[in-house]
Formats: sequence, C-alpha cells, structure tokens
Amino acid sequence: MNNPCVRCSKQRIDGKTWKEKVGISIVTYTMTICPDSTCQKLVDKAIAERQEKNDLISKKKIAAKLERERAVAVS
Ligand SMILES: [Zn+2]
Repeated sequence: MNNPCVRCSKQRIDGKTWKEKVGISIVTYTMTICPDSTCQKLVDKAIAERQEKNDLISKKKIAAKLERERAVAVS
C-alpha cells in the first residue's frame, strides 16, 4: 500500500489500530503515522489546525443558516 507522508513523502507506517462499532458491524481503523516522529508531530499539528478551521467554518455556516431561517419565520 502506497501511503506517503504529506510532509516528507516517507512511507507511512501503521500506528495504532482500534475497533469501532459502526451500526451493526465492527470496523477496524488503522492510523498511519510518519516513521519520523518529529515530522508526525508537525503533521498532527497541521491536521488539528485544519480541523479547527473547518469547525469554525461549519459553525459559521450553521449560524448563517439559523439566521436565514429566522428571517424567513419573521417575514
Ligand atoms: Zn513525514
């Protein structure tokens, strides 16, 4: 499986695996990590920052949607 690191292009290795119940089936997830732990930390940080930004955007979207709905309800 070809899964290079987004930062250094090294082949990523399996990190932790865990099982999660999805509906009626158990799905096994494997998190791949960069073999370079310093690089992996930076990747994690970048992912966390992106996630934060996405959360902010979706919160804004929800707020805007509520605002629109409220406007419709009033008129
Ligand atoms: Zn890397």
